[in-house]
Amino acid sequence: MSIVVVGSIAYDTVITPYGRREQTLGGAATFFSVAASYFCPVQVVGVVGEDFSDEDVEVFSARGIDTQGIARRPGKSFRWGGEYSWNLNERETLFTELNVFEEFDPELPPAYRTTPHVFLANIAPGLQLSVLEQVESPRLVALDTMNYWIEGDRDALAEVLKRVDILVINDEEARQLADEYNLVKAAEAVLSMGPTAVVIKRGEHGATAFLGDEIFNVPGFPLRDLADPTGAGDTFAGGFMGHLARHGDHGPEGLRRAIVAGSVMASFCVEAFSLDGITNLDEDQIAARYRAFQALTRFGDL
Ligand code: AMP
Repeated sequence: MSIVVVGSIAYDTVITPYGRREQTLGGAATFFSVAASYFCPVQVVGVVGEDFSDEDVEVFSARGIDTQGIARRPGKSFRWGGEYSWNLNERETLFTELNVFEEFDPELPPAYRTTPHVFLANIAPGLQLSVLEQVESPRLVALDTMNYWIEGDRDALAEVLKRVDILVINDEEARQLADEYNLVKAAEAVLSMGPTAVVIKRGEHGATAFLGDEIFNVPGFPLRDLADPTGAGDTFAGGFMGHLARHGDHGPEGLRRAIVAGSVMASFCVEAFSLDGITNLDEDQIAARYRAFQALTRFGDL
């Protein structure tokens, strides 16, 4: 089964203790769709400017991603810059130039409207709602958001939350959304806003998911070589949703496996700059790292 993702397509400038990259392909929808493409067919909805290169369109096409939903508009593509210190869980935004993204008004091509899985990446909640108006009875809707919308557009965000099945956000955002520091209590508060599951991304500490009454925790993969955590959250979401769409099991066991699949993809993402860690993987590498995750937390009886 396929997925439609709506979100940013960007040129990123990234500085980390391990190096820097200028104006390299990025954006939430980009990381998401490349990661999900290892599991199922993906359709992407976004906007780019006249400066968006054919080479970068090819990054999507090479992974078999349907790019009919990428609109090209007069002007420059969205640009974002971020800098990390040794603590890769924290970053400073250097600049955000919305450019054509400022007027983004997602329009789903007719062929995308019956797609069973929908991922609303981090965009204005009003636009996320407009996407939900365009899809016909999806099987599963998941959503990401960020502090900017939690602070500035809470009412619209509350409306979208009532209509999604799964919220995938990072720990700071969960705390802010719930106005509660304790993550367990924050997750309970978020669940009372509408979603039936909340998956909290915790950077190098992994992810904790609240699946109804169950809590599932997966560690961050201990990596020797790190490069760039940009996009790891969107890559996680892509692996997670991709796995759900491929296997169709949305129960607690299916969600657990999907969360590990998301963690596997995110671990590849941070090993290289930009999309380099996730564009040339094969099924065996993905399966091997999945087994390595299983081995990480296996233990015997007391
Ligand atoms: P992540 O590291 O998972 O939070 O995602 C980083 C990606 O999000 C980068 O590739 C950026 O281009 C993109 N991004 C940064 N700020 C925004 C924003 N305000 N809206 C949409 N996408 C953004």
